[in-house]
Amino acid sequence: MKERMRELVDKLNKYAHEYYVLDNPTVSDKEYDKLYDELLSLEKATGEVLYDSPTKRVGGEPISAFKKHKHIERLYSLDKATTEEQIYAFDKRINKSDENLTYTVEYKFDGLTICLTYDQGRFVCATTRGNGVEGEDVTAQVLTIKSFPLSISYKGKIEVQGEAIMRLSVLEEYNKTAVEPLKNARNAVAGAIRNLDPKVTEKRRAEIMFYNVNYMDTNTLKSQVECVEFLKKEGFKVHPFLRVCNGISDVMSAIKEIENSRKILDILTDGAVVKLNDFSLREKLGYTDKFPRWAIAYKFEAEEVTTILKNVIWQVGRTGKLTPLGILEPTELAGATVKKATLNNYGDLTRKGVMVGARVLVRRSNEVIPEILGTTEVFPNCLEVKKPQICPYCLSDLVEVGANLFCPNKQCRPRVIANLTNFASKNGMNIEGFSEKTAGLLFDKFGVKSFSDLYRLNREDVRNLEGYKDAKTDNLFSAIEQSKSVLFSNFIFALGIDNVGKKTARDLAKEYKTLNALLTASKESLLAIDDVGEIVADCVFKYFNDTEMVDEINRLLDLGVEIIYENSNFGQGVFGGEKVVLTGTLFEFKRDDAAKIIESLGGEVQTGVSKKTTMVIAGESAGSKLDKAKALGIKIIDEETFKSLIKT
Ligand code: NAD
Repeated sequence: MKERMRELVDKLNKYAHEYYVLDNPTVSDKEYDKLYDELLSLEKATGEVLYDSPTKRVGGEPISAFKKHKHIERLYSLDKATTEEQIYAFDKRINKSDENLTYTVEYKFDGLTICLTYDQGRFVCATTRGNGVEGEDVTAQVLTIKSFPLSISYKGKIEVQGEAIMRLSVLEEYNKTAVEPLKNARNAVAGAIRNLDPKVTEKRRAEIMFYNVNYMDTNTLKSQVECVEFLKKEGFKVHPFLRVCNGISDVMSAIKEIENSRKILDILTDGAVVKLNDFSLREKLGYTDKFPRWAIAYKFEAEEVTTILKNVIWQVGRTGKLTPLGILEPTELAGATVKKATLNNYGDLTRKGVMVGARVLVRRSNEVIPEILGTTEVFPNCLEVKKPQICPYCLSDLVEVGANLFCPNKQCRPRVIANLTNFASKNGMNIEGFSEKTAGLLFDKFGVKSFSDLYRLNREDVRNLEGYKDAKTDNLFSAIEQSKSVLFSNFIFALGIDNVGKKTARDLAKEYKTLNALLTASKESLLAIDDVGEIVADCVFKYFNDTEMVDEINRLLDLGVEIIYENSNFGQGVFGGEKVVLTGTLFEFKRDDAAKIIESLGGEVQTGVSKKTTMVIAGESAGSKLDKAKALGIKIIDEETFKSLIKT
């Protein structure tokens, strides 16, 4: 048992150093927490705690390159719960009366704790939590963050605490051009602030969400609610999500609320923080060595894990683009076994330092297949992933365009299958029951390669296929027959033009109204459509000027495909007829999700404000688009109004 404890302490100390000091963890939080909990239970069982056990301390030691700062009042970590029972047990521990206690529930921001000191109304310095007693002086770095006040009306000595975060959209944008992509928002922001060069901090566009007054010389605040109000009044950024709960079952509902919405938030949250509201009650309960007894963090199921990459295989998509797929040492993540993870392209793979045999960090978000975020450990026997020269399916020589590799053969099996599946999909011809498997079978057995081949299939031939009994064949043929009547926008989508998704297909249908008009569209007229840029215009123009494609369209029409032209009165709902621009930061919606909601309620989403715009939804820190909207006298609404509109 003792040996295991020594092993765990050494391992955990190594991981904590990588996490807190280097901002470059090699294992996920989930793996760290598992080992930590094992150590805790061994310490409990033996009654012994090794002198250098991580259970004795808060966070990591400050980096010596930074000046040290002693916090006026010690900063603590939080006790954690992962089940509902543990939340109820927490209430039972501290609630000695029969009455419900009032708790607050906040987001647990996954970032880096920052403590700001003010004296005589002036900002003095910014520090990290460090080991709780002493932190690093990161004043120069934090000064590059614009969203906190340099002077406040409170004239005494005060320390306020918040979490520096990097928005997920900012991280995504940053990673698009970064030489070395950042693995996740937590490490990204920690690395940005604990960096000796403030220019690096500025580039990563961090923000601070405040939630606590850690020290105040006059101690006038009486509750968490008052504390948050005070922070707001003094000009600190406070996240609008704060639930005040009467009793622990209300607390659980608030936690569930966060859990349900966190996937669409632009902020990384790894849990919810439950705090006793009343400060006088807090004082009675006090602190353990590491935690306040009056608060607890409920941690959500992890979304990231590390595992070994066993192999990389290449998939060919609709456009011929090769996408690397990582084959993983199977691992458990968010209740599922993960065996595969995607990477964007060869360039992405090399930027992330991915090697066969290396330990990689995998994230599972809403996507079906998880993504490899980066490499955390490389071993001596790791193998480089070779750049393929020929298509693994049809052996054609590959073509390299930017960071991507393409198979130029339009008849390449996976390309054809992906195109047929897209053609038949719900947003396309909507051939019910037609799957990738169907496409593969028809390709292999009858050489179905083009869209029109589908409408020339012989019923008797299909009936003879294994597994295609009468009913199945009849269903397939009736679905194919029914698909012949198709909305114009669906038809455009079905053609599989590069860079033309559901929205652009709808925009094109709306603009040109008839197939003939679209076939003869000039590049200029395409570019005049909102949201159609050079690349899309080019793809559309080339497609309809390729005789092979036009011939195929004519064949489809000859085989009985009939296009139904939708009238221009798209969708109906609260945004019916509105041309809407989203700008600034929305707290509770990702841009894409907000856009989808608007479209589903009849509106049209534009990227830029013009005279045609009828409504602007302005989130926080909205800039030039908002100014332009004001100048043009366009209707402007905020996030709260947007929320109430979509509820009506
Ligand atoms: P923690 O991150 O689990 O929780 C405590 C912290 O949450 C507080 O100190 C505060 O900074 C922050 N916080 C965010 N929102 C808050 C809010 N609304 N109110 C109050 N506090 C809020 O604890 P910790 O001590 O910072 O870190 C321990 C955790 O770090 C471990 O459980 C593990 O998951 C992770 N870790 C990972 C590795 C690794 O190698 N992956 C290594 C060491 C630690």
